[in-house]
Amino acid sequence: MTGIKYKSYTLRNFKTIKQLENLSEENIRTIEVVGNVLPFKTNNYVIDELIDWTNYKDDPIFHLTFPQKEMLSEENFRIVDEAMRNNVSSEELFDICHKIRVKLNPHPAGQQCLNVPMYNEEMMSGVQHKYRETVLFFPSSGQTCHAYCTFCFRWPQFISGENMKFAGKESEDLAAYLQEHHEVTDLLFTGGDPMTMSSKVFKKYLDPIWKVIDKTNLQTIRIGTKSLSFWPYRFTAADDAHEMLDIFKMIVDKGINLAFMAHFNHPVELSTPAVQEAIKLILGTGAQIRTQSPIFKHINDDPEIWAELWRKQVNLNCIPYYMFMARDTGAKDYFELPIVEAYDIFRKAYSKVSGICRTVRGPSMSCTPGKIMISGIAELNGEKVLALRFIQGRNPDWVATPFFAKYDESASWMSDLKPAFGGKFFFEDDMEKIYKQKYSDCEKNKYE
Ligand SMILES: *Cc1c(COP(=O)(O)O)cnc(C)c1O
Ligand code: SF4
Repeated sequence: MTGIKYKSYTLRNFKTIKQLENLSEENIRTIEVVGNVLPFKTNNYVIDELIDWTNYKDDPIFHLTFPQKEMLSEENFRIVDEAMRNNVSSEELFDICHKIRVKLNPHPAGQQCLNVPMYNEEMMSGVQHKYRETVLFFPSSGQTCHAYCTFCFRWPQFISGENMKFAGKESEDLAAYLQEHHEVTDLLFTGGDPMTMSSKVFKKYLDPIWKVIDKTNLQTIRIGTKSLSFWPYRFTAADDAHEMLDIFKMIVDKGINLAFMAHFNHPVELSTPAVQEAIKLILGTGAQIRTQSPIFKHINDDPEIWAELWRKQVNLNCIPYYMFMARDTGAKDYFELPIVEAYDIFRKAYSKVSGICRTVRGPSMSCTPGKIMISGIAELNGEKVLALRFIQGRNPDWVATPFFAKYDESASWMSDLKPAFGGKFFFEDDMEKIYKQKYSDCEKNKYE
């Protein structure tokens, strides 16, 4: 149980990773150049137990946590590389990298302005309420991860490194909000990764909500986390592992559904003794584990991988939940798959597994109007179309209504799609209204 210590690696100390001895100087240089722009952090579990170093160039977990040259455009790579060669000051280098970052769409889908609710006429910090039933809570102490995914859409917050201190006011306000909003049944702790918090701090965030739990309409508490992939020892060997499991029990004993929303990108993340033990312990508290992942080139763009991923999850008593399209942010060009290809991979994988694995939904795009799922390719009136539907909508009335877009092999996001048969998508006028009424100061593209 004991004896394993978490050791993280960032740009500052990554050259001490002994497995990197096999890498060429150019490869090491690449990590440094790209790592100055995109967030980079990994740890001893990822390095020692997940990455297969004999074949690191094709290893999915190497691509998942180590920066790769093509994640930046040639131009941007050259700019940063040159600045480093010229030994510019660290402030100057930061500015150069910052300028590149702001052009990589750091806040997709109107996260900053469209989803933040008001309480006492103030914007609530750390809270987003986009879909009627579900409130997202970003506790400030949980805005980091045990390692960073190179594709992360939350990446800007890792760079600033601000707001990492415990902020009790956030959950006090949230508790008040939940009492007034009985349409909210689900509270989702997210980040970053809330499971990077100590059990004590996590409990402190929960306490104000717990005090008023009977005056809210909460039915489910979810925890969005990649800790089972990046640091399963959090639940098996950490000093406060037991305390965290006790908190889970407390939630379940209250009659609340505790859904542990685990982020797994590849079956290898389910293969170690540590992750399997952690899953058992979490399920032992009465919590459920539901799983989700985006689909990416270089990591999981193969139906065999997805079929194996879902099968393994079910064998470990986890419930497949979502497949997402890569968000239009950060290194998207490196990872993105056209919608048509992603759907083809989904369909092939889905058809390989039994019904018990088919609780998964997707592929879906989390864009400003909602979560839009690609349900298939069809031919209507002699026109080839993509059939789409909302899994979640800013307006709940949109949910589950089929609609159609022109078939387009190069489209990789909702904003690339045009309505089939001309005209507008059925929700566009409605979306326009939502946009204008509430958030006229928000200058974002409505289909991000
Ligand atoms: C996916 C998502 C949720 C949760 O939606 P469910 O369909 O209830 O799983 C909540 N908020 C946002 C912003 C989301 O993208
Ligand atoms: S675990 Fe999630 S929040 Fe953390 S780096 Fe990966 S994608 Fe980002």
